[in-house]
Amino acid sequence: MQSRKRILVTGGAGFLGSHLCERLVEEGHDVICLDNFFTSQKSNVEHLLSRPNFELIRHDITLPIYLEVDEIYNLACPAAPCHYQYNPIKTMKTCILGAIHVLGMAKRCRAKVLQASTSEVYGDPEVHPQPETYRGAVNPIGPRACYDEGKRAAETLFMDYYRMHGLRIKIVRIFNTYGPRMHPFDGRVVSNFIRQALQGEPITIFGDGSQTRSFCYRDDMVEGIIRMMESPDDFIGPVNLGNPEEISVRELAEVVLELTGSKSPIVYGPLPPDDPVQRRPDISLAKSRLGWQPKVSLRDGLQRTIDWFRSINLSDYRPPTPNYGPPWVPSRPQ
Ligand code: NAD
Ligand code: UDP
Repeated sequence: MQSRKRILVTGGAGFLGSHLCERLVEEGHDVICLDNFFTSQKSNVEHLLSRPNFELIRHDITLPIYLEVDEIYNLACPAAPCHYQYNPIKTMKTCILGAIHVLGMAKRCRAKVLQASTSEVYGDPEVHPQPETYRGAVNPIGPRACYDEGKRAAETLFMDYYRMHGLRIKIVRIFNTYGPRMHPFDGRVVSNFIRQALQGEPITIFGDGSQTRSFCYRDDMVEGIIRMMESPDDFIGPVNLGNPEEISVRELAEVVLELTGSKSPIVYGPLPPDDPVQRRPDISLAKSRLGWQPKVSLRDGLQRTIDWFRSINLSDYRPPTPNYGPPWVPSRPQ
């Protein structure tokens, strides 16, 4: 193992965060997992609680916190459109105040800090596949803007702390990622389709299903994120991380039906506003600078995810908001 570091993972109890914590604990680092459990629950990291080099803190990253750390992975933010749109003002605060708080901490501790940005910074892209140099087509006043613009503003803050204070920063732009431990009521397409197929419920396609996404398996993503953190300080990104294997939502539904052996019917509903038509990462930069590319095919990854969904009890999971299942109409926070 390389030198033992004190590492903070914000959003560490979430889908990606919990796997990241697991890897870092296994590597022998002292890991602090910070989360407010908005879109996750303690059970995601329960198996780590007895480890002496793991600590769990319930905290909301929109509020300041003082910790002594060497590295920060900033993942705290709801990632599923239906949940981040539930309280859009809170989502924007999480992105921006969260970034300010981790950057302030990094400045004080002279820590290295990585931002989990997103392909959503490209909006509904006119350039395909999307390279990091593409500046995006985001609707700043639409329902996705709280997340898209929040993540864009967070990138701006990271760059300004880098230019102004010489902070060691890293920015990764994560494309759709899936796998075991996704919240079953997360509302994202992979978790919805698998849950629906296994329960014999209709598979809900928004629009005609011709829109595309490129899905990356979680192990590949965690590897890419860690490689980025460990790359030389002069490589700050942004760097795209994702699997370039592109598929339409309709084809995805068919593969899920085939792999689950489900007889669920497919139903079609309205396409949410500003839903991107196509998305595929150009990962040339990650390949050349990180020596990284995904290894797990979509079918293999889906099979592993389906096996995990079969193993869980849905009643152990509280839906983060009532909006996970279509037809969802954003309701006001109570
Ligand atoms: P997730 O919802 O499972 O994880 C997010 C975690 O952040 C949850 O545990 C949630 O409770 C926590 N959180 C939310 N608001 C918080 C706050 N104010 N304070 C503290 N904790 C808070 O989602 P994920 O898929 O694991 O995503 C992790 C990160 O990666 C997010 O920042 C997301 O924007 C980014 N990302 C993910 C994907 C993907 O496809 N999974 C794609 C692009 C970007
Ligand atoms: N989608 C769908 N049915 C669902 C959930 C999502 O057809 O039950 C579509 C959604 O409209 C989008 C795609 O699947 O076109 C991916 O949606 P997701 O919420 O997973 O992530 P996004 O990439 O849009 O942030």
